[in-house]
Amino acid sequence: MKLGIVGLPNVGKSTLFNAITQAGAESANYPFCTIEPNVGVVAVPDERLNVLKELNNAKKIVPTAIEFCDIAGLVRGASKGEGLGNKFLSHIREVDAIVHVVRCFEDSNVVHVDGSVDPIRDIDTINLELILSDIEILDRRIVKTTKALKSDKSLAGELEMLNAIAATLAESKSVRTMDFTEEEQEFVNSLNLLTSKPVIYAANVSEDDLADEGANNEYVARVREFAASENAEVVVVCAQIEAEISELESDEEKKEFLETLGLEQSGLDKLIQSSYSLLGLMSFLTAGEQEVRAWTIKVGTKAPQAAGKIHSDIERGFIRAEIVNYDDLVECGSVANAREKGLVRLEGKDYVMQNGDVVNFRFNV
Ligand code: GDP
Repeated sequence: MKLGIVGLPNVGKSTLFNAITQAGAESANYPFCTIEPNVGVVAVPDERLNVLKELNNAKKIVPTAIEFCDIAGLVRGASKGEGLGNKFLSHIREVDAIVHVVRCFEDSNVVHVDGSVDPIRDIDTINLELILSDIEILDRRIVKTTKALKSDKSLAGELEMLNAIAATLAESKSVRTMDFTEEEQEFVNSLNLLTSKPVIYAANVSEDDLADEGANNEYVARVREFAASENAEVVVVCAQIEAEISELESDEEKKEFLETLGLEQSGLDKLIQSSYSLLGLMSFLTAGEQEVRAWTIKVGTKAPQAAGKIHSDIERGFIRAEIVNYDDLVECGSVANAREKGLVRLEGKDYVMQNGDVVNFRFNV
């Protein structure tokens, strides 16, 4: 999964991104991730892995990972090619979800590109560039579909959808504000529009506003209101504090530091958690003697496709999945004990994976 960080200049993107790369997971474990200067890979925290490692006496833990991509340089006029605009827009096209950093902190030492702190104006500025880019794509598609309709009447519904989307964009609204049926959503996804991507607004607040999640920060309140209007999420972060947390070596130190700030979770962990729920993701687990590991899948994924996350050969040769629920496994103390109690199930190719499944795939090579 890949998240793109966007936002106006000077809102705290680099500070947050640097915290992410500092905290970064060891990239050797994630050969599938693109390692580029503007990409940071972070591990998804999962307490269950520590427990399974103990249980199995395993050598190591490999958490599942998320890629954060720093898409700096998005400025007013980007859709018209200003400031390398189009290049940045094409980067956004490749991500699964957008983290939109919004400045909600006052600091006279940090210049705002538009002269004052105003999160909704900032959001509108960025969103407008994305909307303009979508309008361009849609206009081309409408011309093409209108032509094709002459020989293929079945495209009438598609054209109607395209026009409805174009009308929304013309009102300067993002596509994600629209309601679609499942089938329509599939078509919309195929268009790969920028404003239909899920968004998390990261409200960057000062340290003082962190403990109460910006409850007394008027800017945060406005961001929340706006996000609600377009089915988006808000995560309150303080980029500077994230940078400090990422410099701490051990988990204990991090926990202590968070406690002194009155926090349970770092902003980064909150971002990861929100993106999981926003994108409908979950993790399943594998536990061997070499390693215990978490893998990301979409909720609703069936066993063979989940196996494919590990290796395409396992999906191709899938026979069945041997599954024990994490809680059952921990209670029994070992797979052997769980098997004796009849808690290890054999599931076939139609099995829908469940959160906390600890899996051993059987497959033909
Ligand atoms: P970017 O242009 O969006 O990447 O912004 P930067 O991350 O470079 O931040 C711009 C300036 O704002 C830097 O001087 C940061 O130190 C400062 N900054 C970032 N986050 C915070 C914050 O949470 N509080 C305060 N007071 N300053 C911040």
